[in-house]
Amino acid sequence: MKDQFKIYIDRLNETDTEKIFEVLDATFLDVQESELSFEGNVTISGQAYLAKNHLILDLKIKASAKMPCSICNETMLVPIEVADFTHTVELCEIPSAIYDFSDEVRSALLIKIPQFIECHQGKCPKRNELNKFLMDSPEDTYTPFSELPSVK
Ligand SMILES: [Zn+2]
Repeated sequence: MKDQFKIYIDRLNETDTEKIFEVLDATFLDVQESELSFEGNVTISGQAYLAKNHLILDLKIKASAKMPCSICNETMLVPIEVADFTHTVELCEIPSAIYDFSDEVRSALLIKIPQFIECHQGKCPKRNELNKFLMDSPEDTYTPFSELPSVK
């Protein structure tokens, strides 16, 4: 496990808060599927502290997922943001007194992956072709931030 994800319990006490700020290459997530991979950096910020017999993590996570447009299949970058992730662990579950939170970061991001994405800010050029075959277009279209270009 990487040092960046280790929280040393004995360095924290009831009043201390450990600030977390890491910018890491997305390869640590180990998600390299053809339909989904993470690209570029993952930014993790937040804090860790102890409350009674618990370790509490408050994190904000930003990453970019590379996924095919649900309509035309063209690969695009989709910003994934976990705005307020809170994770609580009982200290008795951490016998080594070193807590590795990389798995939590990974699962928090995977939960945020949208089921449906569409390129060109929700105006996929192939949408009209598709509409000839479909009566209804999906209403829960996920629109990524417009400043992100699609990736070919
Ligand atoms: Zn498309």
